[in-house]
Amino acid sequence: MDFIYQDPYPILKDDTQYRKITSDYVKVEKLGDREILTVEPKALELLSQEAMKDVSFMLRTSHLEKLRAILDDPEATDNDRFVAYNLLQNASVAIDGQLPSCQDTGTAIVMAKKGENVYTGVDDAEWLSKGIFNTYQERNLRYSQIVPISMFEEKNSGSNLPAQIDIYAKKGDSYEFLFLAKGGGSANKTYLYQQTKSLLNEKSMDAFIRAKIMDLGTSACPPYHLALVIGGTSAEANLAAVKKASAGYYDNLPTSGNMAGQAFRDLEWEKRVQQICQESAIGAQFGGKYFTHDVRVIRLPRHAASCPVGLGVSCSADRNIKGKITKDGIFVEQLEANPQRFLPATPPHLEEAVEIDLNQPMESILAELTKYPIKTRLKLNGTLIVARDIAHAKIKELLDAGKPMPDYFKNHPVYYAGPAKTPDGMPSGSFGPTTAGRMDVYVEEFQKNGGSMVMLAKGNRTKDVMNACKTYGGFYLGSIGGPAAILAKENILSVEVVDFEELGMEAVRKITIKDFPAFIITDDKGNDFFENL
Ligand code: SF4
Repeated sequence: MDFIYQDPYPILKDDTQYRKITSDYVKVEKLGDREILTVEPKALELLSQEAMKDVSFMLRTSHLEKLRAILDDPEATDNDRFVAYNLLQNASVAIDGQLPSCQDTGTAIVMAKKGENVYTGVDDAEWLSKGIFNTYQERNLRYSQIVPISMFEEKNSGSNLPAQIDIYAKKGDSYEFLFLAKGGGSANKTYLYQQTKSLLNEKSMDAFIRAKIMDLGTSACPPYHLALVIGGTSAEANLAAVKKASAGYYDNLPTSGNMAGQAFRDLEWEKRVQQICQESAIGAQFGGKYFTHDVRVIRLPRHAASCPVGLGVSCSADRNIKGKITKDGIFVEQLEANPQRFLPATPPHLEEAVEIDLNQPMESILAELTKYPIKTRLKLNGTLIVARDIAHAKIKELLDAGKPMPDYFKNHPVYYAGPAKTPDGMPSGSFGPTTAGRMDVYVEEFQKNGGSMVMLAKGNRTKDVMNACKTYGGFYLGSIGGPAAILAKENILSVEVVDFEELGMEAVRKITIKDFPAFIITDDKGNDFFENL
């Protein structure tokens, strides 16, 4: 047999629109017969700084078009439309560059391909990191990176570094980049399933996908750009393809396979998976058609004894942006500068929400909530306590030491969240919900001690939480995941730290809210939106 080399991921064209940052910091020099693109290190810093800034406040035009299409679809539910409208409003607030589109401003990830005729003379990852550092320092973003000091002692790095930077070699004289700001909730919804040949038939594949779609749930803030990758020369290759496919990086792969094992998109299965997602009725977080915006199904070669299958999403903070350095300068993908144009002239007509006054005793709040079924849309007004992972662990330590549940946890509903930095002159930084599931282990004990009677966050929860709510009369309310900027601008009137100040974004806060949107997910009778799908 003749030797054939196949580019494993042959991207057939690049239709990305770029904006030029500068023509500076690059020049072409001769080395013998070769032309070398000499790139000053500052170019790397500038590119990553600009890319991380743009992607924190702007979205792709194609993403916004898909949100608008939900509003225009008569088959979308009220709840689908409500989420889409909020996300479009959110994009219109974030574009000002003060409030990032999501409070979880993510792990900075850079994937790059460096041409063999590109010379920088430095450790490129260091200079790319410097640009990321600058943006997280200078903008109202959040530091989410926790570093281990020892096996069990951890600290926030205070800079959002380290970033994940992977640089590969390629031929040519250009340097290409994909930057991502990947939130924790979104990253946590990446799955690897080690399967076998027995999966590779229509019936098994269909059943497998239906089951795994339900596992995804809503904690990564749908509607999703969903990626499913079948095969891969290793588990790592599979998951790397999942990440890039969810970021739209493989949209221009071929659509059929060949004897050399090229990666390809299976358009037929993309339609089928999209259909399965619509039939799940999960919708854009609270029931409906729009669990996904779109689906990418990529087929890869595999070892005869392995069949890795990867599933992942790009969330409502669809923060993916390309960049490139060529002899013409430094370029970054042009994201949408005018998201307002996707908002309809009048808001979608929706059923009225039920208003709940949170400034009444907890028994009265519970007595009010018990009147309404799951999926009811609410407007919350009053006081919330904000606490998330570390605060919950610390309160558990108090209980374990025989101390009482703090009054603030008994008197007010708890919102699981952690804000981004507060812009000057505003009451709050971007402040959307975090994933509720991480707090599930505390609910039974906290409710038994009179706390956490009404919880507000995003995503589905375990049976233990449903049982606790039924036993102690509690509720779990769903807040829309994703629109953190609009919540900060329109719905959060004041923020004050009340406990554990040293925890930074994880400190316990008291906030005052106005017309804060929420949905009843789990009630005091054992009903649960996700269980009822
Ligand atoms: S939109 Fe949701 S999943 Fe995405 S980063 Fe924000 S909180 Fe996380």
